[in-house]
Amino acid sequence: MNEPEDFSKLFATAAEHAAAFRRSLPTRPIGPAADLDSVRAAFGGPLPREGTPPERVLRELITAAEPGVMATAGPRFFGFVVGGALPAASAAEILNAGWDQAPFQPVLSPAGAAAETAAAVWLKELLGIPETASTGFVTGAQAANTVGLAAARQHLLAVQGWDVSLKGLMGAPRLRVIAGAERHATVDRALRLLGFGTDLVEPVAVDANGATDMAALEAVLGADDAPAIVCLQAGNVNTGACDDLRTACELTHAHGGWAHVDGAFGLWAGASQQLRHLTDGVELADSWGCDAHKWLNVPYDSAFAFCSRPDVHVAAMSYTASYLTGSGQGTGPGDFTAESSRRARGIPVWAALRELGRDGVADLVERCCALARRFARGLTDAGFEVVNDVMLNQVLVDLGEHTDAIVAAVQAEGTCWMGATTWRGRRLMRIAVSNYATTEADVDASVASVRRAAAGVTG
Ligand SMILES: *Cc1c(COP(=O)(O)O)cnc(C)c1O
Repeated sequence: MNEPEDFSKLFATAAEHAAAFRRSLPTRPIGPAADLDSVRAAFGGPLPREGTPPERVLRELITAAEPGVMATAGPRFFGFVVGGALPAASAAEILNAGWDQAPFQPVLSPAGAAAETAAAVWLKELLGIPETASTGFVTGAQAANTVGLAAARQHLLAVQGWDVSLKGLMGAPRLRVIAGAERHATVDRALRLLGFGTDLVEPVAVDANGATDMAALEAVLGADDAPAIVCLQAGNVNTGACDDLRTACELTHAHGGWAHVDGAFGLWAGASQQLRHLTDGVELADSWGCDAHKWLNVPYDSAFAFCSRPDVHVAAMSYTASYLTGSGQGTGPGDFTAESSRRARGIPVWAALRELGRDGVADLVERCCALARRFARGLTDAGFEVVNDVMLNQVLVDLGEHTDAIVAAVQAEGTCWMGATTWRGRRLMRIAVSNYATTEADVDASVASVRRAAAGVTG
């Protein structure tokens, strides 16, 4: 027998480099040092015929990758809705790589399955989702929306005597799809993947801050008797606005419909006493999608698909095969996601929740919202117009006709990173505060950077 391999040095080198990178985050420029072409060149070339010792692979990888790494995990990255990666969650991810678990079925990884079971209980409690709901640990809110809408399709056709798993959509009874006009684009992709086609979507008008208008929803629902999948939102990706979930779910159910909530980041408002009113009525929905890799600050990729009807969830997502004894019965993690083999996503989620505790999650969410308001005040004081109601962690800023140039100058300077968006025909700078490590000083330094960039561009 060979000596067992000793990974200690190799793993220690990887961990040391990862730790040095994390240590550099508060001070390093946010943007990468090299451009894409040179990073591609560093990674490229023909695949060598012969292998390379792991230590050297690691050295080569670090040399090639480091100049092209973006400091998205750092405290002054405000683009998209990214979130950092908590210390315990990141370390758990390192362990996860060592353990290499695939909890498709509990028999493959009792630890991976048990971490998901425990984390699911805590998550539902934090978010205000009924404890009886089922949970799938998916890649992102895109996948969560796909799972939720698949369950919706399954159920609304089943109540009309149609098993979509057997018969598909061709010749199926008619379903309607209703969604707020400012839904996230991943809802449309989920609908496409599920065979609906986006022409089917009946858009509902939204209010001044981008939340679905309830009178408009009632009118759209009442226009037709066919059962409807209603796509709701907690956390408009531009403004942070949350739909009135209580009213929307009641209206949807009165019409025999299914309410799905895309709460990629906004559902986390439910974890805070202060902000819980934003997701009031969340428990009434039929399915929910939520990210861990955004606001919970779990490393990529990690998210949840919850369903109020576990049997429907399983019917929509599970499968079985002769060699997979016990699958397809709602007893294993693989019955609730579209993936079969996958990593043990529950392990870093469990670690993040343990690291923060209930109070820590609430504090993280409240702190980010307070910092978003600080951004809004600072940029207003600097003479810019904040155009959204900053009730969550998103800030939209009108920098005038040179918005794109100013945003580009901010990104180039490297103090902080924010992107631009077009919202209601206006070109705006878009700020999302979702990193656990961001401080008031980070926000102030970033406001100062925007002022410098604006002065430089217009100046
Ligand atoms: C980010 C986001 C998504 C997509 O989530 P992924 O994690 O990127 O798959 C969906 N909906 C909303 C509202 C989002 O903010």
